[in-house]
Parts: sequence; structure tokens; C-alpha cells
Amino acid sequence: MSGYLDESDFMMVEEGFTTRDLLENLLMEVSQTSDKGAFFVADLGDIVKKHLHFLKALPHVKPFYAVKCNSSKGVVRTLAELGAGFDCASKTEIALVQSIGVPPDKIIYTNPCKQISQIKYAASHGVQLMAFDNEVELGKVARSHPHARMVLCIATDNPRSSACLSVKFGATLKSCRHLLETAKEMNVEIVGVSFHVGSDCPDLQAFTRSIADARLVFEMGAELGYKMHLLDIGGGFPGTENSKVRFEEMAATINSALDLYFPEGCGVEIIAKPGRYYVASAFTLAVNVVDKQEVSLDPPGSDDEESGSKKSILYYINDGIYGSFSCIFFNRTCPSPILHKGGGGSVPRFFTAACPALTVRALRRYKICIRIHAAIGRNGPLI
Ligand SMILES: *Cc1c(COP(=O)(O)O)cnc(C)c1O
Repeated sequence: MSGYLDESDFMMVEEGFTTRDLLENLLMEVSQTSDKGAFFVADLGDIVKKHLHFLKALPHVKPFYAVKCNSSKGVVRTLAELGAGFDCASKTEIALVQSIGVPPDKIIYTNPCKQISQIKYAASHGVQLMAFDNEVELGKVARSHPHARMVLCIATDNPRSSACLSVKFGATLKSCRHLLETAKEMNVEIVGVSFHVGSDCPDLQAFTRSIADARLVFEMGAELGYKMHLLDIGGGFPGTENSKVRFEEMAATINSALDLYFPEGCGVEIIAKPGRYYVASAFTLAVNVVDKQEVSLDPPGSDDEESGSKKSILYYINDGIYGSFSCIFFNRTCPSPILHKGGGGSVPRFFTAACPALTVRALRRYKICIRIHAAIGRNGPLI
């Protein structure tokens, strides 16, 4: 143990005791109190398993957890304990991981468009690895962080990902040479290339294409006299079993592309920035049903009395899209609820995580879906 975790960060449970058992107990306790606020239960053991699985499936890739996906102390401390690095998108995230003692060389500051005061903050806190994708950023870094080691973030083209980052981030291949030349003129050190294929990317070949593109940029760099030694293959790894692409398949594709373009012994260190991968299945949200209303399922304007039949019930819960369900807007995810009955009555009291939209849809089919995972923490994603 390196001492990142202490006992207040988690609760030990017996082997075989599941999240579901814990939820049952907590819901029982909560139903006897007047405060029935929504709450998360996290299975830190699940995060440990994911980490070991990652190292096994991608043995040449070092994971840097994308803190924006869920910045709970328990998650950050567990991953620090396991030896992972951290991908921070802001000063707040850098401060959080440094507050638990993570050394600066385990941090990469990947927001490619940073506020100058935050670049200075990174400089004064020893964080050197940072991403960029444009000339203005290079100018800011040249003036505010003389020891920065920059990673050039290239665009990828995957409109089918649930969060396609290249709309906002990433330099086109065409602009890379100019950026590398400009960095040379400004005396900014470039150490590598990064990309992000987009979250929940259904297209496996996106990784192959991006790794090949990164190789081209390494060669461009070499022509200009750079000795780049870092490849960052970003995030986009699925976090749950029901994702469009299985993690193992993705890992196999990545390993073949790395063998081809960045074979072992080529002197390039490879890192990744998994976010959802680590936390999506570990977190379960419990929400309270605070109200209900019967609604007609007939199209608006039709005569309810005559067509007369299809009714459904809307359940109102005490969390929503401005809170834990922001993932519905940002990531096109659709959480599904599991129903818990409270107090022996017929009225459902709790859903373990649900989203209002899906609750309605599920009930229309007279079926309540069985399992829910909320990938994104309360802070919501930055993308
Ligand atoms: C959000 C983000 C990640 C993590 O993405 P996932 O798809 O959740 O793995 C990685 N890198 C950057 C730059 C990000 O913004």
C-alpha cells in the first residue's frame, strides 16, 4: 500500500455481499428517516477489477484516469493507490489529486485551451505535461510555463461516438506541421501526440486510424528535429457490459495497431486516459419517487374518452438532468431504472437510478428495466 487510501474512504463488506445487498440495507435505513435524498453507492472493488483488467488487456499502455468523469475522493484515492496516473482538465482537478499526494509526474493537464492563470498554476505546482491543439495556446504556454512538455492533440473523425470530442478539440493533420514549426520558433518543447476517439466509440477502426495518424505526426516531428516519445491514445473505452463494442475487442484492435505503428522497443511511452471505463459500472444511484401522475399516451388532440385506453404513470424523482442525470444530455446515455418497493406498500418508493425520460418510456411498454449505472459524477462532465 502506498498510503493514499484510509479507512474513512470506504467500508469493507464480506465476500459475496453485493451492491444490491448494500442498497437494500441503506434503503431500509433511509426509509425510516425523513431525509430521503438521492444518493450514490460505489463499489470500489469494481474499480480495482477494472484496473487489473486494463493492465492485462493493454499491457503496454499506462492508464491516466480522466478525473472529470467522477472526482469522488474514494475513486481518486483508490486509483492513486493502484498506481494509475491522472488526466486533469482544470486547476480544481489538479488541486484535488495533489491534495491526496499524487506527484506531478503522474498528472497530465489535457485541456487544450487553458486559462493563463491555470497554466501558471500548473507551472508552480510542477505539472509539466500538457496538451495543446492551436497556436494561441502555444503562445500562452511559451510565456507562462517555460518547463512545459507539450502533447499535440490531433482530431479524430468519429461522429458516431456518444461524445465526439473532435468538434471542439484536436488539430487537423494539415495544421500539425505549422504548429510544430511554430512551437520550435517559440522554444516550446513538444514531447508527443494525443487523440480521443470520442466516448463509447462504436467504430473500432477509429483507434487504428488515429494511431496511424499519430505515427505520421511523429514523423513530421522527426523531420523538424523533435524527438517525441509519448503517445496518448485517450479515452473512449466502454464502462459497462452492454456497450456497443466490447472492451476486449477494442484492446485487441489497439494492440495490433500499436504493434504496427509503435512496436515495442521504439522508444515511445504509451498512455491512455480512460474515464467512463473505470467508473460507469461501479456507481449506482438511488433516487426517491416523490410524486406521480397519470397521463394519457394518446397523441395530443385525440379524444381521450373515446379512444379511451392507453394510460401511463409518470413518476417524479428527486434528481434530474441538472444533477446526476446530466449524462443524458452530454453523452446521449439512457439510464434504466430498477424498482424497489418501500415499506411493503404498492407504491414504488425508490428507483435505483433512473432517468425521467426513460422511466416514462419504460412504463409505456409496461416493463421496468432492470439495471442502471450512472457514469458521471455529480459535477457532470466538462465536455
Ligand atoms: C473525458 C475525457 C477522457 C475520458 O473519456 P472516456 O470516454 O470517459 O474514457 C479522456 N481524455 C479527455 C481529454 C477527455 O476530455
